[in-house]
Amino acid sequence: MSISIKKRYGTLFLALFILAGFFSLACNAREGPADLVIINGKIATVDENRPDAEALAVRGDIIVAVGSSSDIRPYIGHTTKVLDIKGNFAMPGFIEGHGHLTLLGRSKMELDLTTAANWDEIVSIVKDAVRKARPGEWILGTGWHQEKWDKTPSPSIEGYPSDEALNAVSPQNPVLLTHASGHAIFANARAREMAGVNRETSDPQGGRILRDPEANPTGVFFDGAEGLIRKAYDESLARLTPREAEAHSRQAVNLAVQDCLSKGVTSFQDAASSFKDIDLYKKMAQEQNLGIRLWVMIHEDNQSLASNIGRYRIVDFGDRRLTVRAVKKFMDGALGSHTAWMLEPYSDLPESTGLNVESIQEILDAARLAIKNDFQFCVHAIGDRANRETLDIYETVFKEYPGRKVLRWRIEHAQHLNPADIPRFARLGVIASMQAIHCTSDGPWVTKRIGAKRSEEGAYVWQKLERVGATVMNGTDTPVEDVNPIPNFYAAVTRKLPDGSIFYPDQRMSREEALRAYTINNAYGAFEEDIKGSLKPGKLADITILSKDIMKIPEDEIPGTKVEYTIVGGKIMYQRQ
Ligand SMILES: [Zn+2]
Repeated sequence: MSISIKKRYGTLFLALFILAGFFSLACNAREGPADLVIINGKIATVDENRPDAEALAVRGDIIVAVGSSSDIRPYIGHTTKVLDIKGNFAMPGFIEGHGHLTLLGRSKMELDLTTAANWDEIVSIVKDAVRKARPGEWILGTGWHQEKWDKTPSPSIEGYPSDEALNAVSPQNPVLLTHASGHAIFANARAREMAGVNRETSDPQGGRILRDPEANPTGVFFDGAEGLIRKAYDESLARLTPREAEAHSRQAVNLAVQDCLSKGVTSFQDAASSFKDIDLYKKMAQEQNLGIRLWVMIHEDNQSLASNIGRYRIVDFGDRRLTVRAVKKFMDGALGSHTAWMLEPYSDLPESTGLNVESIQEILDAARLAIKNDFQFCVHAIGDRANRETLDIYETVFKEYPGRKVLRWRIEHAQHLNPADIPRFARLGVIASMQAIHCTSDGPWVTKRIGAKRSEEGAYVWQKLERVGATVMNGTDTPVEDVNPIPNFYAAVTRKLPDGSIFYPDQRMSREEALRAYTINNAYGAFEEDIKGSLKPGKLADITILSKDIMKIPEDEIPGTKVEYTIVGGKIMYQRQ
C-alpha cells in the first residue's frame, strides 16, 4: 500500500471514528429520554478517564452518560427531571466505611450525652428523664466520654465517676449509659441489682468490672463485662410482643437511614449485625423501605455462624440494597477505655496492656469458616498487639487456602500499628478500614495513653499505609462519631485537633486521597467498585451534591459545607430545605 493511500485510509478511519462516536452518543440519547439529568455542576467523578464533568444523565437507577452540559442536553425529554445545580459540587455518594446502623438509630432514641460538659451534667440529664419515666423503666443514654469533660468527677476511680450521685437521682429506675466508644458502660445500683451483679461477681472473659478498693463494682463495665448488664436490659425487651419488638427495631433503622441521607451518605457498611438484624434489613429491602444501600458484616458466636452462614450469603438483594458477605470479630477494645490490646503497657496505666476480647482460637475458627464460605473477614483491632495477632491469623489462614487470591479481608480501625506490621497490610492484601475522625477527636489524649514514640510511629498512619501499597478506607464508626462525612473528610485532610495543633501532619491525606478513601476505596473494600464509588456510565446513580467544592475551597471552609441533595439509584432521597 502506497503512503498516500495509507494516509487517505487513515483520514477516512478518523472521520468514521468521530462519526461513530457522535452516533453512539446520539443513539444513546435516542434510546429514550433520561429519567434524571443533572446539569451545570462541578462534578468530581472519581473516574480516572474523566475526572471532571458538568452534567450526567440517569435512566432507571443507572448512569447512562457523563459529560459537559451540552453533551447531556440531548437526554432531556418531556418526562425527564432536570436538576440544574447551578455550579454546586457533585460527587459519588459517600459510602460510610464502618458504622453501626441499628445502634445509630437506637442512640437517637436514647439520652444524648455526647455534649455533656461533665459528670454532674449527665446526672442532671438522667434526673430529668427519671421524672418523666414510668416506675422501673430503663433509662438509656449514650455518648459520654470522661476525656471530654471539663473537670474530673469527684470521687473518681481511674478517671471514672463512682455511682453515688446517679443512685441518688434514680433509686428505682435502672440506668445504662453507653460510653462514646461503645467499649464501656455505666450502670447504676438498681441496674446492677436487676442483673444480679455484686462484689462476688467475677470479671468475665474479655471484660472487666471497675471496682473500688473494697472490690465493690463502681458502675463501669468494660467490653466483655457490658453483657452482664445488657442481659438484664434485653430481658426487659424480651417481654415485648414480637410486633412491638419489630416496631422498635424498625424505628431505629428508619431514624438511622434518615440521618445518613440528610448527611449525604448513600451506602453504609454495617460493622456488626446479628442474624435477627439482617432478617429485618432483608424484609425492609424487599418492601422497598430501605432508603440507603447496606453492606453488612455478621457478628454472631461461632456455633451460630457455623450453622447459618451459608443461608446468609446475600448479594445485591432488593434493587441492590442489601449485601451480606462478611464476618466480624473483635480482637480488642478501645484506647479511651485502656482496653485496646498493646504490645507494651500503657504509658498512663503501666500495669495494663489492655484486653483481648474474643479469643485467638475463636477468631481463627471464624476466619476458617469465612474463607470456606467465600466471605470477607473483618476484625476489630485497635492496639498494636491486636493488629499483629490479626495479621498473624490472616497469614495462617491464607497459607491454608493458597488457591484463594482475592479475599479483601479487612482490619477495622488498624489504629495503632507497630512499624514492622505496616508493610504486612500490602503484602497480604489486607485493607485498612480506618476512621479519620477518631484521629482528631482522640488526638488530644493519645500521647498520654501510649507516649510520643508509639504515636509517631504507628497512630493513624494513613500515609505510611498508602506508601507501602495498602488500601485505606474511611468511615465514622457511628454512633461513636456523627455519621456526617464532612467533618470526617476535614479530619482526613487536616488532622487538626480542637486546640488548633496538628497531629503528626505528615500523615494527612491529600483531598484526592480523602475523596477516594470515602468513595472508590470503600467500594473496593466491599467488592463493589464495579457498581459504586465513581460516576460513570453503567454505575449506580448514587450521587451527593454539596453547597461547596470541597476539593478546592480553602481548608477552613470545609466544615461549613452543606448537603444539597442525596440521590440513591436516581431518586432524590434528601433535599435541603
Ligand atoms: Zn465499630
